[in-house]
Amino acid sequence: MNARARDPECLFCRLIDGKIPSDRLYEDDTILAFKDIHPKAPFHALVIPKTHIESLNALEDSQAELAGRLFLVARELAAKHGFQGYRCVVNTNHEGGQVVFHLHLHVLAGRQMQAGLG
Ligand code: 5GP
Ligand code: ZN
Repeated sequence: MNARARDPECLFCRLIDGKIPSDRLYEDDTILAFKDIHPKAPFHALVIPKTHIESLNALEDSQAELAGRLFLVARELAAKHGFQGYRCVVNTNHEGGQVVFHLHLHVLAGRQMQAGLG
């Protein structure tokens, strides 16, 4: 799939293309980060690839570097906002609580997270 490939039916692809407004926090050629519209913590960002990847289940070996960079952007965002502690979550498929089927890394910070995932 082309590195810029979008799915016109996908909410986050439409958001990448600016058809849906968002509070952007970071952007480069391959990655976009923006504020979650229903934050679950004082800081709640979503970090996504600009290419449409449905979920972690659809990630290909050739996209391993891109996947790694999602985490590096998450770390940079947390640091930039003054957080040394934060939680990164990737909900995967319906059973994993995924609602938007465009791969995204949740970055949560600004409140005390409980140990474990309970
Ligand atoms: P999921 O449950 O798929 O892991 O998480 C999807 C996330 O996307 C949710 O936390 C939800 O609040 C967020 N979200 C859904 N629609 C929008 C939107 O239009 N704009 C933004 N910024 N976030 C959205
Ligand atoms: Zn998409």
